[in-house]
Amino acid sequence: MLTYTGDTTYDLVLSIALAFALFVAVAAWFVPSPYGRFASPRLGVALDPRLGWFLMELPATLVFLYFFLRGPHRGELVPLVFLGMWLLHYGNRGFYFPLSMRVPRGQRSTFGLLVVGTGVLVTAIHGYLHADFITRLGPHYGPEWLKDPRFLAGFVVYYISFILTLHSDSILRNLRSREEVASGERVYRIPRGGLFRWVTNPSYLTELTGWAGFALCTWSLAGVFIFAISAANLVPRAFATHAWYKQKFPDYPPERRALVPFIL
Ligand code: NDP
Repeated sequence: MLTYTGDTTYDLVLSIALAFALFVAVAAWFVPSPYGRFASPRLGVALDPRLGWFLMELPATLVFLYFFLRGPHRGELVPLVFLGMWLLHYGNRGFYFPLSMRVPRGQRSTFGLLVVGTGVLVTAIHGYLHADFITRLGPHYGPEWLKDPRFLAGFVVYYISFILTLHSDSILRNLRSREEVASGERVYRIPRGGLFRWVTNPSYLTELTGWAGFALCTWSLAGVFIFAISAANLVPRAFATHAWYKQKFPDYPPERRALVPFIL
């Protein structure tokens, strides 16, 4: 077990979480998460993706708030800044994103229960690891932390990434008209504009740079965990999605890369 904070429970959960991220990093190359274009009826019960996303992301908000509010440093400036960042992030991912998804009528059971179950576990652990560290165990969150280059650089990277993620998510959402959604047709189009000029999966790229920024900002292994498990999930999915587009659309822009402009 990793010795990091000296709190046995925290260090144990962190060790298990990091080992799990390593497991996902291998497994995700073999089985793409069964939702969206990779939904599979063979993997059993599935939910409406809006409900699936909502349930999967909810523990990130609830568990975070629970541990945040128990911590002795909950009223201090730096923890409150992190609380604000967290609530904005999960206000988008946990509430706005699922509520605004365009899910074709009649095709609403595509979000595998397996994804929801694993997601609930991961977002709960993620909420606990961050909140307990921020308001109880983190030794470096005095007001001077706001002037530390790690905080400042991470904050800027996080917010540039967040805005770009919102933009890419919005381009994808608008590829399907409301009429198509009402007709039950599951239309996929080639996304264009923004970072899609260079990569097939800009929202995955900026999700990863965003969590890297957040990890820098908090300077914590909780941050390393969420970056690692997101990368374990999203890197293989980015390649699978890129291959899917190239197969589905013969006119798919050949210069577009899967995840990193000009490189990968
Ligand atoms: P997708 O791009 O697969 O889907 C997002 C939405 O856009 C879905 O409603 C999807 O419909 C629709 N869509 C996607 N492509 C097209 C297209 N070509 N034409 C029409 N509609 C399209 O993204 P994910 O659902 O995988 O991820 C959503 C967000 O969550 C991203 O910002 C991602 O970074 C983040 N995320 C973070 C993870 C983490 O571990 N931190 C893990 C997974 C996602 P449909 O569902 O019908 O395919």
